[in-house]
Amino acid sequence: MTIKDNIKSIENDLKNYDAMLLAVSKTHGIEKIKEAYDCGLRDFGENKVQELIGKIELLNKDINWHLIGHLQSNKVNKIVGKVKLIHSIDSLKILDKVNSRAKNLGIVQDCLIQVNVSREATKFGIYIEEIENFINEAKNLDFIHIKGLMTIAPDTENKELIRSCFRQLKKTFDKLSNLSYNNIDMIYLSMGMTNDYKIALEEGSNIVRIGSKIFGKRMYNNV
Ligand SMILES: *Cc1c(COP(=O)(O)O)cnc(C)c1O
Repeated sequence: MTIKDNIKSIENDLKNYDAMLLAVSKTHGIEKIKEAYDCGLRDFGENKVQELIGKIELLNKDINWHLIGHLQSNKVNKIVGKVKLIHSIDSLKILDKVNSRAKNLGIVQDCLIQVNVSREATKFGIYIEEIENFINEAKNLDFIHIKGLMTIAPDTENKELIRSCFRQLKKTFDKLSNLSYNNIDMIYLSMGMTNDYKIALEEGSNIVRIGSKIFGKRMYNNV
């Protein structure tokens, strides 16, 4: 299977949904990303700031880059303003830093809140019951725009557990959609990866983040 075949197969799975394909290119080289670009993809996701910045330099300027991995404080200044969407806001501290940097740049940075629905100790993200308080603080920050929620499902064979995580987040997303703050809108629900994107779509995801199914096995372990 070529990258083109892989993309076609995913696009076929997406055709009955109003959802965006985010190609996760972490660890993969420029040539492979160009191949995906030539198939029409314009949204690419990376989990490491350094790698992302390097790739921005080398690739076409009309690519929308997404940061999907944990953002460390000392990397905030490097990334704000360079990406269309930060999917991985997992603390008020980091959101505040992103806001300050965006203010300095005179821009508004779009972000998603990463939610640890499954409450696994190894995962980043806030708990569902923390979202309300989080939003209460975030609503006062003028240089960020919260555009939705993101989650990573547990790595398990238990499809019903995965489905239940996605369903819980969709329910929260719908509830938050009733809020009306200038800088908070529930537009994007980023859930689903290679092994679980079909379940995520059934449960209401509108951004699927897919790496291995497009590019093959990762070139190295970078988690
Ligand atoms: C690596 C990664 C993906 C893509 O994973 P695949 O299983 O290769 O599709 C999606 N989301 C996040 C946050 C990731 O780190």
